[in-house]
Amino acid sequence: MTANEGGALRAPKGTNDILPPDSFRWEGLVRLAGDTFERAGYAPAETPTFEDTALFERGVGNTSEVVTKQMYSFEDLGGRSLTLRPEGTAGVVRAVIEHNLHRGALPVKLHYGSWMFRQERPQRGRYRQFFQVGIEAMGTDSPSVDAEVIEVGDRFLRSAGATPTLLLNSIGHPAADCKIGYNQVLVDFLRAHEGELAPEDRKRIDTNPLRTFDSKEAATIAVMASAPVITDHLCSACAEHFEAVKAHLDALGVDYSLEPRLVRGLDYYTRTAFEFVWSGLGSQNAMGGGGRYDGLSEMIGGDPLPGIGFALGVDRILLALDEHGIQGRPKIDVYLVAQGDGAVAEALVLATRLRRAGIGADLDHTMRGMKGQMKEAARSGARFAAILGPDELAAGEVTLRDLTSGEQQRVPATDLESRVKAG
Ligand code: AMP
Repeated sequence: MTANEGGALRAPKGTNDILPPDSFRWEGLVRLAGDTFERAGYAPAETPTFEDTALFERGVGNTSEVVTKQMYSFEDLGGRSLTLRPEGTAGVVRAVIEHNLHRGALPVKLHYGSWMFRQERPQRGRYRQFFQVGIEAMGTDSPSVDAEVIEVGDRFLRSAGATPTLLLNSIGHPAADCKIGYNQVLVDFLRAHEGELAPEDRKRIDTNPLRTFDSKEAATIAVMASAPVITDHLCSACAEHFEAVKAHLDALGVDYSLEPRLVRGLDYYTRTAFEFVWSGLGSQNAMGGGGRYDGLSEMIGGDPLPGIGFALGVDRILLALDEHGIQGRPKIDVYLVAQGDGAVAEALVLATRLRRAGIGADLDHTMRGMKGQMKEAARSGARFAAILGPDELAAGEVTLRDLTSGEQQRVPATDLESRVKAG
């Protein structure tokens, strides 16, 4: 419970209320994501907000910070250990296997938009409840699907108004020689520099040496700048796969920047790893990322099911758009300003007619004065105000005012729809 002594209750630390006007952009972005993903053949999927804790322990991994430090786990009345999902992929893969979707046509292509929960230290762009949109393509390790997934994420961000930089890497495959051989090279390097590493990173040498690249500690970052990188140690199958992914991205005209130190924070990643970053977000400059997770299904007890996906943070994208001064598009095209007897009733009829024709329309229901209604019209973000006073009402007309240029003219009420559509 979050309360001042005797004061009003407040939302829990690290959570946000999403209210107008921000909620419009929020909802618009989530809808744009769904539209973009579905146009590429990704079908919507919803999985439970909580899962068996074991799913994340085994899937996301016991060496990831998300699992060791950040999970909201609880015991239910039946004594089961459950966890509010900290990420979306493990649940989606579990659902695909549980419902045998992977026995049908492959790849299984799904998208989601869901709340995630991580007990992190809250700061700007880092919350305890946040929303991710993401896609997953499961059932093939073909590099063309890697490129498809990355391009869909890139296109979504760009159509939202962002100009992200795509960081790309391959982190090899645990079953292949590359990762095993590289692990030894990296461990040897880390052992030689153990004293220079931040103390919390020293234990990673034994648990997950690759994760030292992900450290936020200045001492560790300095050491890792001269560490051997995995891309110099990929086995031929992984190197070939990575070359093919890059060739597909080149063919699609998707720019990327090779980042051999990019590793991702969850244990299940293999081969392709990527992240979309954008300046203006300060230290939280990642809008999202993803990668291949070819061993995840087996980690959670399923059949082999290679896959790749990404998750993008809606909170973070909106913050970045704000920083860059990129406005959302208003949903109201016309605000009806009604003055005098009978005008509200007529304004409601007109607004309804416009709405039925797919035009955004709103009106004042509280009989404000002319000035107050014009203020509301401006606040609504509408391009036009349609003024309906006693004169207009008697003539079956409205005064259509362009709120950007200030120009206005009387037009027949029946022409309102076509005039607004014509802009
Ligand atoms: P991850 O699942 O850690 O790879 O995160 C993918 C994206 O989700 C990040 O780049 C952020 O945009 C977003 N994200 C992750 N954690 C948080 C958080 N605690 N608060 C807000 N957004 C987050």
